[in-house]
This record gives sequence, structure tokens and C-alpha cells, in this order.
Amino acid sequence: MKKEITFLGIETSCDETAAAVIRENKTETAEVLSNVVSSQIKEHEVYGGVVPELAARAHMENIEYIVDKALRDSKVSLEEIDGIAATAGPGLIVCLTVGLNIGKSIAAFSKKPFLGINHLEGHALSPGLETKIEFPYLLLLISGGHSQYLIVKDVNQYEQLGTTIDDALGEAFDKTAKMLGLGFPGGPAVEKFSKFGDKNLFKLPEPIINRAGCNLSFAGLKTAVLRESKKISNDKLKYSLAASFQFTINKILYKKTKIAIKEFKNKTKKKEVKLVVAGGVAANKSIRENLEILSKEVNCKIFYPDLKFCGDNAAMIAWAGIKRFKKKLIDDMDVSAKSRWPLDINAPYMKGPGLKL
Ligand code: AMP
Ligand code: MG
Repeated sequence: MKKEITFLGIETSCDETAAAVIRENKTETAEVLSNVVSSQIKEHEVYGGVVPELAARAHMENIEYIVDKALRDSKVSLEEIDGIAATAGPGLIVCLTVGLNIGKSIAAFSKKPFLGINHLEGHALSPGLETKIEFPYLLLLISGGHSQYLIVKDVNQYEQLGTTIDDALGEAFDKTAKMLGLGFPGGPAVEKFSKFGDKNLFKLPEPIINRAGCNLSFAGLKTAVLRESKKISNDKLKYSLAASFQFTINKILYKKTKIAIKEFKNKTKKKEVKLVVAGGVAANKSIRENLEILSKEVNCKIFYPDLKFCGDNAAMIAWAGIKRFKKKLIDDMDVSAKSRWPLDINAPYMKGPGLKL
């Protein structure tokens, strides 16, 4: 009988210290034996954003406890684990190093294979934790650090269709909330207060909406929110600005996702599209409802990983570890932390001066 594979996953790329033990079951989805996430919202709240040095210090203080708890909760001994997977990038180097080093130490000490995982591959494969989705599928990854459309062709095989040329969507939500004094993290705050405002009150820009394929841009929108926020004097207007921001994001994602679906169909020759929406921003209900409308128009089925697997977590890292291990994609101990690590290495770099769209 084929042995079930069990992995310990570790994630410290940004502001979540996380560890999980995952086993692949016979239906090729996951048995989540433990999934521990310690968020650092309190540490960063006063700054309205993640401060790398503070994040790294919190990871160092928590990591041993979190890994130990994940192992204890799973009721699996280290001997029963087939491999250790830790996020190696992209992310904050000072943070990544914490998880990477402890992962390597456990692997060396227990003589288990070690895998340095691309955080984005973790998100890309995360729906497989719950549902077996056949390749290829289209991924919209929207998080605090990334906003991309990708064709997920297989494990380790990705084609980028579009990306942000400036800010990530989660970052735009966080900055908007900060400018309006709505709280941190900004996404849930903007979503909450939008409901009390008039979404049509402010006409905000929709950057590169009619060009550059399914590439995205949010910097101009953020600047417009800053400009308008300086003029407003009461809470009602503040909520209307938040609502107008959310409404504008919905319009941008509707249009760009429609383009991405078309490109996916052209490239894969598939008539039906499976779209996976992942990353922290995928928790936004308004975005979900808006994409649901699109999916009915264009013959597309949308999948959202469960909320606990949308934001940063180690279950998806262990899962990517299992998938790579099965393809014998095992790393050496010299794998190092990378701040930038695109899934599609052939995709053009889309940031910085001189960019032509
Ligand atoms: P991640 O980078 O995957 O850990 O996700 C964190 C990002 O998701 C932050 O920028 C949050 O503001 C954003 N986020 C979380 N929940 C929501 C929400 N309900 N609406 C919009 N953005 C959200
Ligand atoms: Mg995070």
C-alpha cells in the first residue's frame, strides 16, 4: 500500500509566525493534523504597517513555541514526519531567515529531507488542501505583498499573465485605512466601514484599466485617496471615501479578471475556466460577490481556499512541500532566503522607471 506522506511546514515570510503538520490522504487532499498561526497585529498596529525588525524579533521570540505546538497538536512524532518545508521567499529577509534556519536545524537533526518553499507556490497550491482541482487553473493572488494573475499548469510550472506594476492590493487597502484612520490591518477595516458610506460619492481613478492586459496598478488610486482624505471633515464622508475605494477596486478586478480569463482560455484552449482566488485580500466579501457576477457571465467556476488558508499560514507551505517532495524536488541545506522570487522566471520585471505598458 502507498505510504501517506506527512510534512512539517514553517512560515515566517512577513508578520505571521506559523507552523503546521499536514498529511496527504488517499483522495489526494490534506488531513490538517495541526495548523498554528500567531499573528503580529498588536506589534504593528501603532505603525499602521509591518515593521521588518519588529516582525523578525517577534518571529524569533515565538518560533520555537509555535513549531513545538504544531508538533504536539498533530500528535505525530518527528520520526513519523517525511520532510520539513519552510518558506524561503519572497518576503522580508530578516523574517524568512528565522523560519528557514529552524527548519534546516530540525531537518539536519532528524535527518529528514528539507525543502525551501516559494511562498507564492504555497498560495498557488493551497486550494488543493481541501479540494482536488485538476491543472491547469487560473490563479488570482491578492495579498499584502502580491497581486498577480497566473496560470497554474502543474507543481513548479507557472505562467504569469499579469502583475501589479506598483503596489500590492492588500497594501492599497492598508494605506487607505491608515489615511482614513480606520485601523490596522486595513483590509477588514475598509470593508467594514464601506458599508456605512456612499460608493458613488467620490470618482476615483482606475489606473491602466484600458491597457497593459491584465496587469494591475494601485499607486494612482492610493494617491487620489490621500488627496481626497485631506479635504474631508466628517465620518460620513470618510466612510464614503472607503466605499468609493472598495467600489473602484471591484471595477478594476472585474475588468482585469475578465481579461485574464480570456487570456487563460486562449493559452490553454480550455472552454471552461477554474479560477482560484487566494491571499489575504480574498477574504473580502465585496470582491467575492463582484467576481461571482463575472463568473456567471464568462463560464468560470471560482474556488476560494478556506479563510484560514487564504492569509499567510504554514499548512499551505507543508502542502507545497508534499507536492514537491512527490516530484523529487528536494533542496540542499544551502538554500537561502530570497526577497524577490517570481513563480514564472520568464515573466518581465514590471516595476521601476522606464516601464513601457
Ligand atoms: P497576506 O499578505 O496574505 O497575509 O494578507 C494580508 C493582507 O490582506 C493585508 O494587506 C490585509 O489588509 C488584507 N486583508 C485581509 N482581510 C481583508 C479583507 N477583508 N478585505 C481586504 N483586504 C483584506
Ligand atoms: Mg500576512
